[in-house]
Amino acid sequence: MRAPEFRDQRIRIGLTGGIASGKSTVARLFGAHGVPVIDLDQVAREVVAPGEPGLAEIVAAFGTEVLAADGTLDRARLRARVFHDPPARKRLEAMLHPRIFAAAVAHAEAAGGPYQVIVAPLLVEFGLADWPDRVLVVDCPAETQLERLLARDGGDETLARAILASQATREQRLAAADDVIVNDGPPERLAAAVDTLDALYREMAAGAEHDPPGLRLP
Ligand code: ADP
Repeated sequence: MRAPEFRDQRIRIGLTGGIASGKSTVARLFGAHGVPVIDLDQVAREVVAPGEPGLAEIVAAFGTEVLAADGTLDRARLRARVFHDPPARKRLEAMLHPRIFAAAVAHAEAAGGPYQVIVAPLLVEFGLADWPDRVLVVDCPAETQLERLLARDGGDETLARAILASQATREQRLAAADDVIVNDGPPERLAAAVDTLDALYREMAAGAEHDPPGLRLP
C-alpha cells in the first residue's frame, strides 16, 4: 500500500528494527528530549478499540471468536489465526493498514515538536521506507534479539524464532537505513547515540542540513 502523505513540512524520522532490538527503549530516549513519538503499534491498538469501525470489520471477517469475553479484540488469538494463513493475513492487513496510517498521520500533524519520531516496526517489510523523511534502524544480532525477547515476554523459543524469521533480515533493514544505532552493548550507550542523533535531526529541522550523510552509532 501507499501510506498517506503528511500535509506539513515537519521532519519525521521512521524508527524501525526487529522485534526486541530496542526500538521502544530508543523511542523513550527521544521522548526525554521533548520529541513527540508516534508508535504505530499503539495506533494499531487504537483503531481496533471497542466501538471503532476497524473492530467491527475484523469481527465481520473473522467471527466473534477473535473477541475476548469483555468484547475487546483478543490480539493473540487473531495473530494465531492469521500467522499460518497468508491470504487471511493479507485480508487483515488490507483492513487495518489504511486505518493505522490515516490515524498516525492525524496524530503526527497534531503533535508539533522540533521533529517527530514514528516507531514503525514493519516499515521495511511493508516497503514504506520512503514514507518518513529519514530512516533510523536499531540493529543488533538476531541471537541478542532472541535473548531479549524471551527475557521480556517469556514464551517459547520456537515461537520467538518463528517471529524473527517472519521479519525482514538485518541486511534488508540496514539497506533501507539512513542512520543506524548498533544496540549490542550496555543500554547506557543508547543515550549518547540518541543525543547525537537528536542534535542532527534538530539541525535538519532548522533547515541547516537538508539530507546529511547517515550516521552509524555504537
Ligand atoms: P523493541 O521495542 O524493539 O521490541 P525494546 O526496546 O522493548 O525492544 O527492548 C527489548 C528488551 O530488551 C527490553 O526488555 C529492553 O529493556 C531490553 N534492552 C534494550 N536494549 C538493551 C541493551 N542494550 N542491553 C540490555 N537490554 C536491552
